[in-house]
Amino acid sequence: MKIKQIGGEFALIGKIRKNTRLYSKDAIVGIGDDAAVLKYDKKNFLLFTTDMLVENDHFSLKYSTPCQIGMKAMEQNVSDIAAMGGLPKHAVVSLALPNDIDVGFVDNLYKGINEKCKRYKISVVGGNITHSKEIVINVSMLGLAEKKYLALRSKAKIGDLIFCSGDVGKSAAGLELLRNGMKGGSVKPHLEPKSRLELARKLVKTGVNSMIDVSDGVASEVRHICSESKVGALIYADRLPISKTTADDSKKLKKNALDFALYGGEDFELVFTASKNKLKQLKKMDVSAIGEIVGKKNGVKLVKDNKKLSLGSGFDHFKRLRV
Ligand SMILES: [Mg+2]
Repeated sequence: MKIKQIGGEFALIGKIRKNTRLYSKDAIVGIGDDAAVLKYDKKNFLLFTTDMLVENDHFSLKYSTPCQIGMKAMEQNVSDIAAMGGLPKHAVVSLALPNDIDVGFVDNLYKGINEKCKRYKISVVGGNITHSKEIVINVSMLGLAEKKYLALRSKAKIGDLIFCSGDVGKSAAGLELLRNGMKGGSVKPHLEPKSRLELARKLVKTGVNSMIDVSDGVASEVRHICSESKVGALIYADRLPISKTTADDSKKLKKNALDFALYGGEDFELVFTASKNKLKQLKKMDVSAIGEIVGKKNGVKLVKDNKKLSLGSGFDHFKRLRV
């Protein structure tokens, strides 16, 4: 059977998850969150995550410099640690490289990696190099989260408000511009995405109930929170934070910015839920209230022009190529 016949990437993860056992009580949260949560010490949990970038699927050397690819490889892992409420600490970097690749590529890739290591105080402590037809970069990262600040996908509660940080849709709009040989303000956020680590730390200190990072689009992230928390959600289309730049670039592309925000992905913003009494504090931060958590039987719905529409799913890595 093909992956698309069982329902795509997330169905595949579900199948793997069903057949995976946690043999140690030290594994507190396994497959199904932004990072695994492992026992560490009295005060902290250890977080463990990994992410892969594949040439001509996640990046193209037509659009990105090696330095930008290195930066992105780090940022997307930091984003997963941030979504758990933690701080990144250590990383291992594995590379699969074509035999004829220039050493300068690796030098510049590491320029990007090292720049982010300096910014976040992450130590690269190992890795692996092998050969392949296309470039593959895999980063695995460890982080720490104080037990009281751990944020999971599974703790959203009925009545919570749903929030989204910064603005969304910019990365997908930027990619579309690049594909069409066009220019615009969204290109840079696509090529040089930035995680929201500092904001995530402020959020967990304020008190969120659940959190996830935006790697596959807001629709997909809300769905993940809902399925892990066994709840439903209402998302208000007109409340999604879309910048003027993204709106203008979408117009140039004759595309709907809302689709980029909901289904585009790679914005590395945060989607989280918090109880209503946190609203006053959260309003002072770079976040927008975009919806609310409701009972599971209501499903996950998009409210647009006073109509409740069923929300599609997000980016599926097996449905289309990224670049
Ligand atoms: Mg994630």
